[in-house]
Amino acid sequence: MQLNLKKIPLSVKILVGLALGVIFGIFAVNFGLSKFTSDWISPFGEIFVRLLKLIAIPLILVSLIKGVSDLRSTAGLSNMGIKTILYYICTTVIAVCLGICLAYIIKPGNFFPKEQQQTLCEKYSENVESRQIEAEIVKEKGPLSFLVDIVPENIFEASTQNTMMLQIIFFAILIGVTILLLPRKKTKSFRKFIDSSNSIVLKIIEIVMLYAPIGVFALIASVITDIAGDDPNGSISLFKALGMYVITVITGLFILILIFYPTMASLLGKIRYLKFTKAILPAQLMGFSTSSSAATLPVTKKCVEENLNVSPEVSSFVLPIGATVNMDGTSLYQAVAAIFIAQVFAIDLSFVEILTIILTATLASIGSAAVPGAGMIMLLIVLSSVHIPVEGLALIFAVDRPLDMIRTSVNVTGDSVISIIINRGLIKKGKHT
Ligand code: ASP
Repeated sequence: MQLNLKKIPLSVKILVGLALGVIFGIFAVNFGLSKFTSDWISPFGEIFVRLLKLIAIPLILVSLIKGVSDLRSTAGLSNMGIKTILYYICTTVIAVCLGICLAYIIKPGNFFPKEQQQTLCEKYSENVESRQIEAEIVKEKGPLSFLVDIVPENIFEASTQNTMMLQIIFFAILIGVTILLLPRKKTKSFRKFIDSSNSIVLKIIEIVMLYAPIGVFALIASVITDIAGDDPNGSISLFKALGMYVITVITGLFILILIFYPTMASLLGKIRYLKFTKAILPAQLMGFSTSSSAATLPVTKKCVEENLNVSPEVSSFVLPIGATVNMDGTSLYQAVAAIFIAQVFAIDLSFVEILTIILTATLASIGSAAVPGAGMIMLLIVLSSVHIPVEGLALIFAVDRPLDMIRTSVNVTGDSVISIIINRGLIKKGKHT
């Protein structure tokens, strides 16, 4: 029995957890068990996300130091760095443009019942205010503050917050490069230490993954009860009002996940559609369940290395950076949301304003932390850049969580594709076996 369970692929186990979570969630909503779910089921999901986040920082630190110090030269690193960033920016801009096109073709704002506008604005105004304060803090910083933010003043402080992942990445690359610059003899014992730390971290991930089906079950069940409460009809009517907006965002996200990425993987990474989709499924499901690219990182890394033969050197570099800066799903969502709100408020956007949305949504997705709901905070910056009333956020608040789940799956898929392409480039150059 034990042996059979081990043989079941991770994606199947997660899918089963997810399906049971959905069934339980619907049952709980219909039988008034929401409180029971939040008291007795949801903590198991929280524990799972905490475990994943707990391992994310040591994973980045150790695997990135190992990845960089295993490279042959610093030139290889800068080459890989430039390519990675360029691919990330290109895919993000494509995602924003896709979002804008869909929002103009479907025009979701025109389907929105006007009587709902007032109700929603009143209902969620408090939530908007708290998001606004967070966005103000980001906006008040100077234009180059993002560069300053990358450099930690205290690595221990940086490692206490998952939102400071870029600082950890900076520190790890600094150590890795320094190792490359020093004679091998001098760094021998440190390399050994990093090697065994790497093995330990990977083993911990394996252990945590044993708990994945239960964690996913609990996460999904509590998301359903959180959204619906004990009144399924209320949330259904909200979903209906926002239906076209939801459909527009989901259509864009599905185009990315089902067409754009697999095409990129096969054209530029030489990986077949089905192989890619199957290989990356566990990471997508994990992104869906946790709504956090950072928490999903250990699974994304495992998927690309074990199922798609991406070398650890590449995945350790490309994926942590991607989890923090490459959020195609988030940028697409921000573009659609901005135009949807403009349509509801009957604001006509000029060509320059659309270009501004492309620029700010790209930057805002880069600036979004890899945690649940981060994209929505940064959406405020997109809205205010083109003078769309930020109160409009209240309109889309109710459906943000399910969209966050899907866009996080897209975000992690985008990172994986780029890791395949960068890996392929290195193979072609003969730097890997
Ligand atoms: N939850 C997303 C992520 O972690 C970010 C967002 O769009 O809110 O990738």
